[in-house]
This record gives sequence, structure tokens and C-alpha cells, in this order.
Amino acid sequence: MNMSACPLCRGTMKEAEVPYAYAGVPLGRFPAEVCQRCGETFFTEPGWLRIERLAREKGLWGAGSRVKVGYSGHSLILRIPGKLAAATDLKKGTTVYLQPAGKGKLLVERTSGT
Ligand SMILES: [Zn+2]
Repeated sequence: MNMSACPLCRGTMKEAEVPYAYAGVPLGRFPAEVCQRCGETFFTEPGWLRIERLAREKGLWGAGSRVKVGYSGHSLILRIPGKLAAATDLKKGTTVYLQPAGKGKLLVERTSGT
């Protein structure tokens, strides 16, 4: 593959193996070009194809979902679609820890051993 100039700053690009996580799950290292000036990373097409294949194998690809917040008693409730539950290994009876993860963000984390 030819070295090209960075599309953002025209800096020199260098080939590298760069770690990538999809939906927070580390998938490994993938071929990319990294700008030596601004540090921007551009994964190569074969790199993206491998990322997509691994994310699909792990059930992560397209597992994100838009849901409405409901209301029950004095609490808000969220339904977790089956595909998302499977991708994150959540089941009925699983204990999770909920915490704020920024403005408008909620982190749902399975507690160990459940
Ligand atoms: Zn750059």
C-alpha cells in the first residue's frame, strides 16, 4: 500500500497495527495508517473487514438499540432487547450495577459471578 498524506492535515502517514474496540470490547490489533503529525488513525479496508467480521462473530455488530424509557411505580424502566441481552450476556436474574457515565449516559455493568 502506498503511503499517502493525511486527509486532515496532509501529514505523513505510517503503517501500524492499531488496537480497536467495538462497543467497548477489544477486538485486537488491525492494519492502519497513522498520521505522524496529528495522530489520526485510518484503518485500512482489510482492517475494517476484519473488525466487522469479528464484531459480527461476537454478536456485537448492530446490537445497539433505541428504546423508550418506561415508568413503573416510582422508578423508570428500560427494556433490553434480546439481541442486546445476548451480546452483553445479560439474562433474567442477572445482577447489574448501574452508574452515571456522563450527561445522558448510563453504564450498565454485570456484577461478577452472576
Ligand atoms: Zn494528520
